[in-house]
Amino acid sequence: MKRAVVLLSGGLDSATVLAIAKAQGYESYTISFDYGQRHRAELHASALLSEQLGAVSHKVINIDLTAIGGSALTDTNIDVPHEEQAGIPVTYVPARNTVFMSIALGWAEVLEAEAIFVGVNAVDYSGYPDCRPEYIAAFEKMANLATRSGVEGHPLKIETPLIDLSKQAIIERGNELGVDYSLTVSCYEADDQGRACGQCDSCRFRKQGFAQAGMTDPTRYQP
Ligand code: ZN
Repeated sequence: MKRAVVLLSGGLDSATVLAIAKAQGYESYTISFDYGQRHRAELHASALLSEQLGAVSHKVINIDLTAIGGSALTDTNIDVPHEEQAGIPVTYVPARNTVFMSIALGWAEVLEAEAIFVGVNAVDYSGYPDCRPEYIAAFEKMANLATRSGVEGHPLKIETPLIDLSKQAIIERGNELGVDYSLTVSCYEADDQGRACGQCDSCRFRKQGFAQAGMTDPTRYQP
């Protein structure tokens, strides 16, 4: 059976990606990161989703990005904005996807996996540079130059099935595939129980997606 490493943040997008990898016949190995983000609820969600969606193995990698800071998610002195910002918002975490995908790449090589699945999206998103198709294409090229499997003729694909989908389309696709969105946590500053703030960018995109899909939003909000 073909194998894939799936980056799983515990949010709506990556949960949908995991379901898509399964539907495409991959044996999934999920990877999540305890990187000093504002809450651990998304890590709990990742474990539940891995189980519910039949991942073979789930790994949590510890890598403390608060040592670098530079983001509202990794420096508690920077507030998470509650309204839309011009340009790339302060919730951007410097080089995060490159760090995460590099570790996923190492694991993929060990597993002899054919693909890494990542839930980046360049439609209903915050303009993060490491979510764009040109970034993904460059990373894939680098991955096949950087690894033994790449140079020995076993190229790795970076699969981004959500890249050009709206949040509405993502939710509809996941719903067809049986994703339980009540397990997912999208909010940047969810509480210990995974309840969302309802005001950050991530909450706004999610809320809008469910409204446009005409579906009941299972998100639990903080009182
Ligand atoms: Zn929020």
